[in-house]
Amino acid sequence: MIFVIAEHKDNQLKPITRELLVFAQRVGRDFNQPVTAVLLASNTAALIDELKSKKIDRVIAAEHEQFATYTPDAYVAVLKEIFEKENPFLVLIGHTTQGMDFAPRLAVALRRPLIAGCVEYGKEGDRLVLTRQIFNAKMNMKTLPRGEPPYLATASPGAFPADEVEAGGSAEVVSFPVGHANTSRRKTLEIQEAQKGKADLSSAPIIVSGGRGLKEKQNFDLIFDLAEAIGGSVGASRPVVDAEWLPREYQIGSSGQTVSPRLYFAIGISGAIQHLVGMQTSRCIVAINKDSEAPIFKVAHYGIVDDLFKVVPALTKIFKDLNRA
Ligand SMILES: Cc1cc2nc3c(=O)[nH]c(=O)nc-3n(C[C@H](O)[C@H](O)[C@H](O)COP(=O)(O)OP(=O)(O)OC[C@H]3O[C@@H](n4cnc5c(N)ncnc54)[C@H](O)[C@@H]3O)c2cc1C
Repeated sequence: MIFVIAEHKDNQLKPITRELLVFAQRVGRDFNQPVTAVLLASNTAALIDELKSKKIDRVIAAEHEQFATYTPDAYVAVLKEIFEKENPFLVLIGHTTQGMDFAPRLAVALRRPLIAGCVEYGKEGDRLVLTRQIFNAKMNMKTLPRGEPPYLATASPGAFPADEVEAGGSAEVVSFPVGHANTSRRKTLEIQEAQKGKADLSSAPIIVSGGRGLKEKQNFDLIFDLAEAIGGSVGASRPVVDAEWLPREYQIGSSGQTVSPRLYFAIGISGAIQHLVGMQTSRCIVAINKDSEAPIFKVAHYGIVDDLFKVVPALTKIFKDLNRA
């Protein structure tokens, strides 16, 4: 059995949950294993409906007031109880702030191996091979978990395409009784939301990103105009953020956001490894750069070697004309 720990916020599944479901559906098909989503929440009804709309076999819902605010102690206590009763083959968790917080604790509690930051999987004979990125995503490492299942794995955001989750609707819903409130060693005093950009880039289907090649802040209007014309969100390389042309939440890369849109424009961006690790899993990458040797062209599916100040306004005009047609 493959278990997905559903991550949610404001009574809605987070995009990482759909990515985990894609991961689970694919492994489930290859290893002939059913998929179960595990939901810990203070109010599960809407989240159950959302999970039931996907092609999975079961939803285990543990509803309790203690899950109104996330704490690792409460999560680990209940998940340990669930997995000691069930017979998991694989437990999938998001490689997110929350997942990275409780997954190692859960692995220790269950005394099972955890393979963190997975981006792909394979099958060798009847064994599961999990691929994770190491050395700041410069190398991929294939990991063959040893011993008997269950294996625990966290999946990097953007590694599996959320929009390829298969729809369903016949999942059985099982409620898991949470006997007593867990006395957590951590108490959340206040939650402060980070200042958000125009969109949550981690789930944006189209991103138009600009880099130092834009030369100065006001030239970034070219990027916003193109993004608007194609219905995309705006992203940036780190020098753009360091120069305070845009706030930090626009930054894509190893010290910014990891994204995996269907279409990614890299405009005036050289393609340093720290930028590539944040966007190289994008489905289609279009690079615009006047330097034909720029490393971005190694990952780009389409490249335009020319002056961005000529190319970008021309592209924007084409898309605007198409929108009008
Ligand atoms: C610890 C660490 C973490 C980092 N984290 C990140 C991160 O999260 N994200 C990130 O992006 N970077 C990160 N960096 C920085 C990274 O190493 C690069 O310096 C950065 O990505 C370069 O940004 P850039 O491509 O915009 O600028 P540059 O490397 O200066 O490239 C500008 C490009 O624009 C092109 N260009 C210039 N003028 C034109 C024109 N008129 N028309 C077309 N093309 C033009 C040039 O040919 C060049 O290729 C990090 C670095 C470190 C050390």
